[in-house]
Amino acid sequence: PLPDFGLGSWPARRARISPDRTALVEHDRSLTYAALAARVERLAGALTRLGVRPGDRVAYLGVNAISVFETLFATARCGAIFVPLNYRLSGTEIRYMLDDSGASVLVHSPDTEALVADPLPESVRHVLRTDGAFETEIAEAGPSPETEVRLEDPCLLLYTSGTTGRPKAAVLTHGNLTWNTVNQLAHLDVLGTDKALCIAPLFHCVGLGQITLPTLFKGGSVEPVAKFDPGTILARIGEAGITSFSAVPTMLEMMCRHESWDRTDLSSLTCVLYGGSPVAERVARAWLDRGVQLLQGYGMTEASPGVSMATHEGTPAHPVAAGVPHFFTDVAALGPDLTPQPLGGTPAELLVRGPNVFGGYWNRQAESAASFVDGGWFRTGDVVRVDEDGWAHVVDRVKDMIISGGENVYPAEIEAVAARLDEVDACAVVGVPDERWGEVGAAFVVPRPGARLDAAAFRAHLEQHLARYKIPKHVQFTEALPRNATGKIRRVELRALAAETFSNGPA
Ligand code: ATP
Ligand code: MG
Repeated sequence: PLPDFGLGSWPARRARISPDRTALVEHDRSLTYAALAARVERLAGALTRLGVRPGDRVAYLGVNAISVFETLFATARCGAIFVPLNYRLSGTEIRYMLDDSGASVLVHSPDTEALVADPLPESVRHVLRTDGAFETEIAEAGPSPETEVRLEDPCLLLYTSGTTGRPKAAVLTHGNLTWNTVNQLAHLDVLGTDKALCIAPLFHCVGLGQITLPTLFKGGSVEPVAKFDPGTILARIGEAGITSFSAVPTMLEMMCRHESWDRTDLSSLTCVLYGGSPVAERVARAWLDRGVQLLQGYGMTEASPGVSMATHEGTPAHPVAAGVPHFFTDVAALGPDLTPQPLGGTPAELLVRGPNVFGGYWNRQAESAASFVDGGWFRTGDVVRVDEDGWAHVVDRVKDMIISGGENVYPAEIEAVAARLDEVDACAVVGVPDERWGEVGAAFVVPRPGARLDAAAFRAHLEQHLARYKIPKHVQFTEALPRNATGKIRRVELRALAAETFSNGPA
């Protein structure tokens, strides 16, 4: 009999249907579903021997690799909780997360050795390097765990990106992840013959939930990519007949700007998903113009992550919109008295509810309670509106909105207009205190290499498309914007910089 219905049983369940299909591919190595199931079972036995019990945490630090999946499934098989960590963070930040999650086992790849060199928190009792102890443990594994996992048990502690503050760990259950998979599959034409590249990092919700788990659920194959390099990825698509991948907008942008873009064979692609931050219209158009089925997804760590997604049929008419809600996910607008109201054409904070939505953050009771209203609706912190076709448009984050002279100004709208200017490589607008207006916009603009652009020309372009009160009072040219591992702009940093540089009013 199969152990349970949790994520840890997925490899064995798939192996029952399609044992000989390829599940995972990495360089010259690949694993069939039968081989994956066998290794997961042994690793689960090994973790049990190391003392891992239901509810314990097992952390993983390293680039995308087959061993991430093995550790995820084996941890789930033990009824324990998987904690993938962002290897782009500093050693101090990683130690904070190990301590916060109370992980007892840390699995890490060789390239992260330096990050774990300093003493680790006391909770960490075993450290397994993927090219060392990890393999020995699998070889010498003890008997499989005898645990029964329920769908409501926690499976994953996934840290949010930390865009608005310190990253918080969302507790995602086996059920949350399963329902997200069902939602994605209801929306997408994923097949068991698909070959998906896994290029978005697996410590982030886009990497795991958007296409990767759905593809494995269907019995397709997934190729984890350790390091994102636009030229290598483009070459790999044609060479391996890749059908799908999930990316963040900066990756799509780097690929369509790469010198090999025009001669890359993209004909095998049936579905390219992206999400996590807004995309510039010219980037979406570049992919759509090549005949690629490009679909925007909108979501967040707390929703495992899908909330809405574009459809194949509707994308040409709404190239940069976030689509329609997922099959088993409902959306509403936050009303004035904190009650859910129908979402319409007026931008409002989005509420979401569904079996894919988490129940709370790890170790943060007050914040967890504050993030839900009336009957289990999660406050996304995002301002959204729907158009006449029922398609969602992500306007901006509530926290990024600037109130200037009593008017609401959404930086994302200004940034989208700025991105239409050929001379602009990237732009971010943040609010800065102002004596007269309360708050005004400050634009940080990265010009295209070699482009000639001054503040007056930049402003003149914005004035052509935007109301006067939306035009940033301050414009500063800069070489690059501070970004996190998935390309999101670190606005907290920019806001501090803008306040220091331009502020003339009370903070
Ligand atoms: P933190 O919650 O720690 O501040 P974060 O919200 O950036 O960080 P994630 O869960 O990785 O952490 O990101 C979810 C957020 O990303 C959403 O709430 C939304 O603001 C933004 N986002 C996701 N998809 C899209 C999209 N398609 N278009 C615009 N923004 C998006
Ligand atoms: Mg968030």
